[in-house]
Amino acid sequence: MSVEKALNNSSAFLNVDLGAIINNYETLAGQAQTAACAAVVKANAYGLGMTEIAQAIFHNTRCTTFFVANLVEAVNLRTTLPNAVIYVFNGLFSDQIETYKEYKIRPILNDLSQVLLWSGSPEPCAMHFDTGINRLGLSEHEAEKFLNSRHNLNLELMISHLIRSEEQDHKTNNIQLGKFRKIVEALGDVPASLANSGGIFLGHEYHFDLVRPGIMLYGGNPGLKSLPAGLKPTFEIKARILQIRDVLPGMTVGYNATWTAEEPSRVALMNVGYADGTLKVSDRKSHVSINGHLAPVIGKVSMDMIAVNISASEFDKVKVSDFAEILGPNITLEMASEVSTLGQYELLTGIGHRYHRWYGKNNKLGAKI
Ligand SMILES: *Cc1c(COP(=O)(O)O)cnc(C)c1O
Repeated sequence: MSVEKALNNSSAFLNVDLGAIINNYETLAGQAQTAACAAVVKANAYGLGMTEIAQAIFHNTRCTTFFVANLVEAVNLRTTLPNAVIYVFNGLFSDQIETYKEYKIRPILNDLSQVLLWSGSPEPCAMHFDTGINRLGLSEHEAEKFLNSRHNLNLELMISHLIRSEEQDHKTNNIQLGKFRKIVEALGDVPASLANSGGIFLGHEYHFDLVRPGIMLYGGNPGLKSLPAGLKPTFEIKARILQIRDVLPGMTVGYNATWTAEEPSRVALMNVGYADGTLKVSDRKSHVSINGHLAPVIGKVSMDMIAVNISASEFDKVKVSDFAEILGPNITLEMASEVSTLGQYELLTGIGHRYHRWYGKNNKLGAKI
């Protein structure tokens, strides 16, 4: 069965435009100038699909280095990308050493006990230095000990992570940069990496040898109001209108009757809900987009249904079986994040597994079904 045919059978689908992700990679790599650009594909590429996305980036760009959070993700990625460099943020535990070696995966060592575990191995690894976020990485005290000791590691990379990279003028960025620089100077010629997506836009001094974008590859932009030039939305979620109801004044829609019609209304129902993730905390202000016009979601999410008010005249031609955009180029992550308590990272990684998923290099977003 062709993809298009299958799509026509689905009630809701996620269309990932791999071409747009490749475009975003190139834009970020260009912004990083002389630094190399890696791809962070942890958490199933932020919910959009690690296998398809990592393959598209690896085979269509010069990207050779990928970061994931844990060893299971890394082993999965290794089976699709036999020749990529793969780093694991979570560090190294004694029962994992064999797996790291067998799959040629590089641990990012987060404390001195992990340094001891890998010490003596000719296989490459990286070091993570904490410069203030107090997440993973060697504390300042441990870093000092590490820098003063003779370690027997094949150190290919040193990293640190920014706390507020999306707040461009915040002094924390500069303080972390200063701390990281000191470590970089002390370690000599080991390649260094500090910038996540936001960090790439803080200026060249934040780039060092390698940048590590995640969310901006996928079209997210947690800091600025709109996507920086050259970055595109990379996906759309669309749902079929299952039924259209005429609702009379005084009638209510959905569980607990939280919406009451004030005038004769047309209400469209779609199969999108809690299982699909994106709408958990949607409220009265959220919208879907139908033929480029915004239509308000009304009432509560009814388990796995939403109701949308399509009474306005621009929806006169809308009929059952048409598709509405739930999230994508018209209902952007910024917009969805603004009307909920969810950040863009949560919205992306919360996309459910029920959507029919469709990946292509020329999946024009917004194309008519
Ligand atoms: C997730 C992560 C990244 C990518 O961050 P984005 O803000 O999504 O670009 C980079 N480095 C580390 C250590 C991370 O955990």
